[in-house]
Amino acid sequence: MKLTRRNFVKLVSALGASAFLTTYKSDIVAALEENKDYWHIAWLNGGACTGCTISFAQTADPDILQILTEILVGNSGLPIVLPDYMETIHLASGSLAEEFKEKWKSGKAGKRILIVEGVIQDPGYCVIAGKDFREHVLDAVRYADAIIAVGQCATFGGIPAAKPNPTNAKGLADFLKEEGVSKEVINLPLCPVNADQLVVTLAAVIIGAKVELDDYGRPKMFFSTNMHNDLCPYRPYYDKGQFIETPGEGEGCRYKIGCKGPVTWTDCPLRKWNNSTSYCVEAGAPCIGCSEPGWPDKFSPFYEEVPNLTSAIIDPTKLGTGIFGATLAGIGVHAVRRSLRRRKEVEENE
Ligand code: SF4
Ligand code: SF4
Repeated sequence: MKLTRRNFVKLVSALGASAFLTTYKSDIVAALEENKDYWHIAWLNGGACTGCTISFAQTADPDILQILTEILVGNSGLPIVLPDYMETIHLASGSLAEEFKEKWKSGKAGKRILIVEGVIQDPGYCVIAGKDFREHVLDAVRYADAIIAVGQCATFGGIPAAKPNPTNAKGLADFLKEEGVSKEVINLPLCPVNADQLVVTLAAVIIGAKVELDDYGRPKMFFSTNMHNDLCPYRPYYDKGQFIETPGEGEGCRYKIGCKGPVTWTDCPLRKWNNSTSYCVEAGAPCIGCSEPGWPDKFSPFYEEVPNLTSAIIDPTKLGTGIFGATLAGIGVHAVRRSLRRRKEVEENE
């Protein structure tokens, strides 16, 4: 099927980010090249481990150099996405780097994407170029034409916001709400962000494909399937009651070593990591639910079975919504596990 702006998101949902990129790589490049606008990225790093930058740098097909330098606008010879500011990997430092950020803000050359990695903390905990990270973020948000938060920290607070959270760390959307700023933030959680998901999201934003978001600001094309109900290749073991007792040892479902797949909404088993090599569960570990709000506190302990998993983790105020209905159906009532998804697919195809 030919890739268009209208069917872009549907095809990603059907194939998963990695398979979509592999199948439609040349169509994506063509769609980007037809685009009239130049897009510039400012990638800001707050309180985080920089793992999301590393994850993005490992995107394989197309690789990061192609994305940032070789995909050109029409016949102009100019790259479609210019990384004006990315403090972890750009060559400039000090005042020159800050000049790049000012240039990005000026927007003279085209549209602007702001990517935020890491948490926002109380004043004084993260100061860059003499200015608090909070001010950098608020300033950049004002100028951004699209905003993407990458990784568990920038989306939901992640490990820096775990109890007792001494720096009052929080994700970007919560910070902006607190500051009275209402602008859409596309949340790409996971720890770290998945490079394919980021590349696909950037492509969608640039070609103007509508990215539908769930209640937590996550693109539905990546975060609307329940890992345990819909995608896990180890599900037949769960249904048979065959479980492994030690990470990495034996054949079986990972539930008894703490798998949080039943309350996790991602397409990890489809897209995997490191050029689609493997993912946590396939590597013999449990899924620890790093795509979800409330992680890591609500999902701890990671390596032990949590009694009453759903009621321990799911926000009771959300229990009426479709996705959590599906979760409850999937735990213990296996026969109906796919019905909600099927119904959704039918509705979408009508
Ligand atoms: S509990 Fe985890 S490993 Fe077992 S079937 Fe569900 S998602 Fe897969
Ligand atoms: S499998 Fe689970 S723990 Fe691993 S990246 Fe996906 S959501 Fe996170």
